[in-house]
Amino acid sequence: MRRAESIGRSLRRFFCETLPESGEVEIGDQEAHHLLHVLRMKVGDKLELFDGRDCSAVGVVEELLKRSVRVRIESKSQVSVELPFRLVIAAAVPKGDRQQFMVEKLVELGCTELWPVTYQRSSVKIEKKTVMKWRRYVLEASKQCGRNRLMEIREPISSREVFAADVFAGDRWLADPYSSQPLELSGGPSDSLIAVGPEGGLTEDELGTAQESEWRTGHLGPRILRLETAAMAVAARASLLAN
Ligand code: SAM
Repeated sequence: MRRAESIGRSLRRFFCETLPESGEVEIGDQEAHHLLHVLRMKVGDKLELFDGRDCSAVGVVEELLKRSVRVRIESKSQVSVELPFRLVIAAAVPKGDRQQFMVEKLVELGCTELWPVTYQRSSVKIEKKTVMKWRRYVLEASKQCGRNRLMEIREPISSREVFAADVFAGDRWLADPYSSQPLELSGGPSDSLIAVGPEGGLTEDELGTAQESEWRTGHLGPRILRLETAAMAVAARASLLAN
């Protein structure tokens, strides 16, 4: 069986936070809206549900209601396509549509957590709705790429908090275009937190704090990447270490 089939990618996927082992489950809200009004699925159609915590289930549409759908569970299993280590990216917030692009690609590449960071030169303000919006993007991307665990979007954090020595127990890297050494995640591989700065780069103050807290710095090649490209490049490197 091809790997994509083994994770059930051929079926339409829906998020369902509480998945019973068997019997019936009702899905509502945006997921039901998608099933009913966008995909116009019918009674008897097969689908896949996932709970965001590594479990998925194959089910059949049993009843279409006005704002919800009843699904009969046929089989439930634990299917993890996660990286074997924790990959956390602490990124500045890109402008406009590039936010969705960044979140989607980080989900696809297996990033465990994304921290929206306010750096001293950040030009995009993190609004209250930013985190909610990003969590929705996570869900949509997870449906599409067959990931059963949701990448966590943390509440916004400042660069001062990020560059504290005790913020993370694993390796801490700062993606810095001017570093003399490449950003090489250890082949172990081990839990890693990687900071990616804003379009205006990091200030001397931030670089000094990172240095005092013994963050390692590394470059991603000789070209200056947009922040979302840098975040993706880091995640792609990590994902290749694991697969
Ligand atoms: N003019 C800015 C500067 O002087 O740093 C460029 C910032 S870049 C558009 C945004 C962020 O992406 C940087 O702060 C860095 O974290 C990351 N980045 C971009 N290109 C990189 C590279 N070649 N190597 C490492 N990090 C890079």
